[in-house]
Formats: sequence, C-alpha cells, structure tokens
Amino acid sequence: MERVGPAAGMTTKTDYEMVVGLEVHCQLATRTKLFCACGTDGFGETANTRVCPVCTGQPGTLPVLNKRAVELAFQAALALDCRLAEESVFARKNYFYPDLPKAYQISQYERPFSTDGGLDVALKDGRVKRVRIHRVHLEEDAGKLLHEIGSKRLDYSLVDFNRGGAPLIEIVSEPDLRSSEEAYAYLTALKEVLQHAGCSRCDMEKGEMRCDANVSLRARGRGELGTRAELKNLNSFKGVKDALEYEFRRQAALLDSGRRVVQETRLWDAQRQETRSMRSKEEAHDYRYFPDPDLAPLRAAPEWVAALKASLPELPAAKRQRFQSQHALSAYDASVLASDRELAEYFERALSGLPGGAKTLANLVINELLGKLNAEKMTAGRCPVPAESLGELARLVQAGTLSSKGAKDVLARMWESGKPAAVLVAELGVSQVSDDAQLRDWIEQALRAQPQAAADLKSGKERAIGSLVGVVMKLSKGKANPARVNVLIKEAVSR
Ligand SMILES: [Zn+2]
Repeated sequence: MERVGPAAGMTTKTDYEMVVGLEVHCQLATRTKLFCACGTDGFGETANTRVCPVCTGQPGTLPVLNKRAVELAFQAALALDCRLAEESVFARKNYFYPDLPKAYQISQYERPFSTDGGLDVALKDGRVKRVRIHRVHLEEDAGKLLHEIGSKRLDYSLVDFNRGGAPLIEIVSEPDLRSSEEAYAYLTALKEVLQHAGCSRCDMEKGEMRCDANVSLRARGRGELGTRAELKNLNSFKGVKDALEYEFRRQAALLDSGRRVVQETRLWDAQRQETRSMRSKEEAHDYRYFPDPDLAPLRAAPEWVAALKASLPELPAAKRQRFQSQHALSAYDASVLASDRELAEYFERALSGLPGGAKTLANLVINELLGKLNAEKMTAGRCPVPAESLGELARLVQAGTLSSKGAKDVLARMWESGKPAAVLVAELGVSQVSDDAQLRDWIEQALRAQPQAAADLKSGKERAIGSLVGVVMKLSKGKANPARVNVLIKEAVSR
C-alpha cells in the first residue's frame, strides 16, 4: 500500500485537472422490497426482522417485481431527462460475499431501463452546468455486514439482511465533473430532484443515498483521460468532497514524481482523512453477468410512461424560475425556497391570500422559520406554525402593524403556543404605531427638541434624519413604524 499523502495546500509541477464521474445509489421510496413483500423500514430495527425466503435466497423461491419500484425508477429517470428503453433486462451479477445470500445480485447490465440523461447543476459562481447522465438502472440492495458492536471489534462478522433486496436505482454520471465543489453541487441537485419527484427520500444517514466516485487527473487542456481510482465508503456529501481533494493530492504527487496511478478501488477513511487501497479494480467480466432467467424482460408501454411523466410534480429548476417570475423573488430567495418540496409548498400555502407579500413572507421564512426548523431537525411539513398563520404574520408586517423585530418575537410565541398572530401581537403589546396623526405629533416634538438637526435636514444633509427618528422612537417607546416616520419627517421639514 503506497503512502503518498501530501499535506493540503501543496503545489504541483503540472497544472492538473480533476476528472470525476459519480455513481449514486438511491433507495426508492417504496413500502416493500424489489422482489418480495418484506418491508423497507428495517433501518435501525432488530437485525433480520425484514426477511423472507425470497430475499434470503432460499432454494425454490422466485422473485416478483415490485410495480411501484418500477414506477418510481421510471419517474426518477424522466426527472433526469433520460431516454427510457422500451425493453430492459434484469441480469445476475455474480459474486461471492456473505452479504449476498444468493451469491448474485439482481441488477441490470447490458440493457438498463434508461440512458442518456442530464442534470442542470447550479454552481457557486452562478454558472449552470449540464452534467450528462450515462445511465440509470434498477437493482436490489445487499445486506449489511457488522464487524463490531459499539466500539468492540469482533473476531467474526454478523450479517443483517433487513436491507437486502431493497429497491435501488444506480445513477451513473459521465465524467463531466471537474472539481470537488462541482461534485458536491451535483449531489445536492440530484438529491433535490429525487426528493421533489418523490422517488427517494435520499436520507444519507439511513443509507438511502450512497455514492462512489471515479477520479483521475490529467494535465489541463489534454483530451484523453488518466487512469482512475474508484473511491468507496463516501458517507456524506462532505466526505465526497474531502475524499476527492485528498485523491487529487495523492495522484498529483504520484504523477509529478514520474510514477503511475494504479487502477484500483480505494476506501475513504473519514477519521484519518485519507483513502487507502482496498483491492485492484474488478472488471465487468469478473462478475459473469447473464440475463436472469427468473425474470421476464421489462417492457414499458408508451401510454404508461406518458402517464408517469404527466404525474411528475414540478421540479426544482422549474419551481425556481416560476418563483422568480410569478412572485418577483430574487434568485437567492427562489433557490432557497424551491430547494425543498415541503418548504416550497408551505411557502405557497402561506402566500395565498397575501397578494404582493412574497418578499415579506420570504424574509420571514428564510431568516426566521428555517433556522428554527433546522435547529429542531424538522421538515416544513411538520412545522408547528401552520402556513396560514405565518401568512397572517407576514400580512401584519406588510401592513406596518408589526416591525420585523416584533414579527420575530411573535413567531417564537406562535411556535410554542400555536396561537394566531393577531392575538399574540395584542398579548405581547408589540404592535407598531403606523397612525399618521400620532406619528406627526411625535415628529413635531422631535423637531422642537432637535432644531439643529431639523435645520440640517432642511438644508439637504440627509444624515441628520437619524437623530430625529431616534427621538421619535424614544417618545413612542420603540413602537413607531420607522419607515413611515422617515417619510413623515421629510414631509414635515419640506413644508
Ligand atoms: Zn423478503
């Protein structure tokens, strides 16, 4: 095992470019497994309680394809702009390992159900990059091996088949990614699309989204690809990013010193922040793929595909655009609100009955509500403040009854008590004074108290308004609507 792992911030002799392709496995959001009626809810449950003769590979059993899994897989491929094959074939991928009771995995090989897609990925610098998708295919998950209990390392291995046979799609990108940041952005976009489409929950902590990365280096400007390493055990988006950056440094050091990169599978060790050699990369022929004789080819009737396409919900990219054009939101606000389907639905529910209030509402959701949801690890769908109540709160801010500070206090109480906004505004005594007659009265007093500031403002020194507003806020015990006070002071001195 070579040990070339230079420190971060190294400089390389050659200007290298990173070339990355990702293989992402996502568990489809079905109730049952791909070929049997066992539940897919076995994560964290007692080991081997979601098993049956089919998914444990008992002799004489036959697989029965889960229709819902196929629907979700096809919808995922449609959401990723893929071409659907009229006919696809399940294949046996043969390998012997204890997590695989049949000693083969049912997958798709030569004839996957979809190919040639693409995903638009928003990059940090504002560019949108189209990442091509080579193929998406269906397969069953393997079981899980346990080599330790808690921190105790075992001298034997345990196997849990709860996950074995769960329905997965594998999404294989073309090697279109050029940096760890692009890989991170691609995964983020992929997760958003699959969650929006309802195909997968993509919960990485539950292993519902897993990623392998193929990475190679080449001198910038060169056409041909270098020898690649396949990175495994990337358990988080950050893990993917860190592993790619480590691998860039490792491969650059090898190439700079005139050595070769070996084609192999490497394991990411998040604790030690390094990749290490696991095995030389297996080739497809090692798996002795052949069509599964127990499963008929999968044929997709065009009208069925058309119905699936029609039932796809609005996807994040379209939603972002619509939020900008229909609600006049900034690109940033639109992208935050459209990134999560539940949040977007919550926002639009709150917005109904609040014409022209989108910006006020977006501020409340993004600046106040999201922080609380994240802190409680809660989705918008489970928010204790009903969308309609938040809409009402935004209406009070828009009408000038409430300052944004006041709205924050009211929201905190709404979160705990569930009371309507108007009731809490009265209870907390935080309503703003926007009544012109009352405001003018305070302004007259302020102008008398600060004659110099009044004169300065009159002669065009805009900054002098600050101290006058200050006096009004003091007189009103902080309840005057500052925006209205500004307008009325200018009116008063220009008379
Ligand atoms: Zn089963």
